[in-house]
Amino acid sequence: MITIKSERELDLMRKAGYIVMMALNKIEELVAPGVTTMDLDKAAEEVIRKANAIPSFKGVPCAYGGIDFPGSICASVNHEVIHGIPNDKPLKEGDIISIDVGALYEGYHGDAARTFEVGKVSQEAHRLVTVTRESFFKGIEMAREGMRIRDISRAIQDHVEKNGYSIVRDFVGHGIGSQMHEEPQIPNYVTSQRGPRLQRGMTLAIEPMVNEGHWMVDVLSSDKWTVVTRDKKLSAHYENTIVVTGNEPEILTEK
Ligand code: MG
Repeated sequence: MITIKSERELDLMRKAGYIVMMALNKIEELVAPGVTTMDLDKAAEEVIRKANAIPSFKGVPCAYGGIDFPGSICASVNHEVIHGIPNDKPLKEGDIISIDVGALYEGYHGDAARTFEVGKVSQEAHRLVTVTRESFFKGIEMAREGMRIRDISRAIQDHVEKNGYSIVRDFVGHGIGSQMHEEPQIPNYVTSQRGPRLQRGMTLAIEPMVNEGHWMVDVLSSDKWTVVTRDKKLSAHYENTIVVTGNEPEILTEK
């Protein structure tokens, strides 16, 4: 079932979204060579808890039989796509680091991700990060009342593939609200399903995951969480929580 949020619910989701944005801003400030993803995790958790929210990802059960997710953020470096567990390995100049943050505030979630550049990165890495961000904005141009989910998917896929990259298929965007993952699923590529029509009051987490090489990914058997590109080429991620309105979509996790 797709939930349509009331104004009261949207207000709580705006607050959750703002907290996610503040945590990402803090991380952006801190990202540098020598910093560990554990440092970033601690800083984000502090921002979230000080705002009377709870990190949404902490304690989530593993779909593949591993430990419950131990971090407040997902931190995925270079060829890691999503769901990387924060650790004590220092970031290096030239890395790209995808950070996903979720916060639960008074019963409602916000969810967003960015890929940050560590110091100076290669032109190729920078282009991947840029195209990934652009593809999100292409997607939300279609996030209007009366359009279909597949219109969003197509806009994202077109932009990514036109630029020579590929879209991850095994993981998709999602509805969001009192549950982190609600209906509908939002693939970032065109499938045989056109998906439901968009209505005002729907809240969606749209999140292209873009690979430099092939779209195939694997889950690391060592931790049963980290998703990596099969060809070990780079991957980037960009996500915001948005609301469908009678007009332009409203982004809750970015100003
Ligand atoms: Mg998400």
